[in-house]
Amino acid sequence: MGNLALGIYVHVPFCVNACAYCHFLKMQPTEERLRCYFNTLRYEHDCWEPLLAERSIETLFWGGGSPSCLSAKQMETLAVLCFSDKVEQEWTVEVSPVSITKEKLQVLKLLGVTRISMGVQSFNEQILRQLGRRQSLEQVLQAYEWIRSVGFDNVNLDLIFPPDFSSLKIWQNDLEQALTLSPEHVSTYCLTYENDRGPFTEEAYSHVDMDKEADFYEFTWKFLQNKGYRHYEVSNFAKPGFECLHNLNTWRMQEWIGLGPSAASQWNHKRFQNAFNLDDWAQHQRINEESLSNEDLCKDALIFGLRMRQGVNLKHLQKRFPDVNLADYEPLWNDFQKAGLITYDQQNVACTTSGLLLADRLALEIL
Ligand code: SF4
Repeated sequence: MGNLALGIYVHVPFCVNACAYCHFLKMQPTEERLRCYFNTLRYEHDCWEPLLAERSIETLFWGGGSPSCLSAKQMETLAVLCFSDKVEQEWTVEVSPVSITKEKLQVLKLLGVTRISMGVQSFNEQILRQLGRRQSLEQVLQAYEWIRSVGFDNVNLDLIFPPDFSSLKIWQNDLEQALTLSPEHVSTYCLTYENDRGPFTEEAYSHVDMDKEADFYEFTWKFLQNKGYRHYEVSNFAKPGFECLHNLNTWRMQEWIGLGPSAASQWNHKRFQNAFNLDDWAQHQRINEESLSNEDLCKDALIFGLRMRQGVNLKHLQKRFPDVNLADYEPLWNDFQKAGLITYDQQNVACTTSGLLLADRLALEIL
């Protein structure tokens, strides 16, 4: 696996928000928790350091929680603990309009961060309140102005479909407002109903109508493509050359190392996750540890690859996994193709628009 791209993900488990739909590990940053966090990260850094000595690191991603609720000084410390000096291609930091400041952005720029991802979710105050987001429109616009004035030229905006797919008009307005800012990248998500349904998502889930959901997706795909954004993955759009490399490496089943509580890793034919609870993580506990055969990795590369517009290059996949018999998948590809869900030849398999809408179901079939 030595030639694979390597990404590092750092989970910053602190956040001052309390969004109704949140299922990420997050907590208020107290002095004691911050001390525990940095001490344990130092331990993780020291464990990984010898293993990474000969390895290049392509991408780094700080997610959360909310990395922007760290102070500028804490960001500098974190940068040292996550091998940022070895990163060759892309370093993304997620920021919240509530906790980011111009000073913090200046520090991030000086540290070498190349990409900022801001959680906007909606420009509609009513939807924001419904989602439990504390930010105001003014905060979003101010944060965006700082991001640009500090010199970041690769910016993603995260948007969330209205909770119960209630209004395409509100959604169109959100997309239009986002595009007036000219971000290089837009990610559009729907609330994750499957994970840890809390009272809010339970309520929202009860309103979901699959046809309505498909209408929103199709509308979004057309709308953003007409505005010059490449639709390169089910939920992701980028101006040419601004695709998120970190996510691409993950979807292509390369390698990644997760630092911080709840962060997941895929390394050397193993997949594991750090404990969710800060104390358990501080005791170096891991969960969901599994060994991965070439068959497993190949299957996942197909599942996640089919979520990308360009699909999967079967020749490359076969070269990477010579012991996997890709011909076994042919009956499945033929069925999908007959149903109009994929295009397929000996070289490449990719979803059609109808197939992308059913990507999760195709994944189940592949499994
Ligand atoms: S800002 Fe993100 S991490 Fe914080 S509560 Fe909201 S969804 Fe969760």
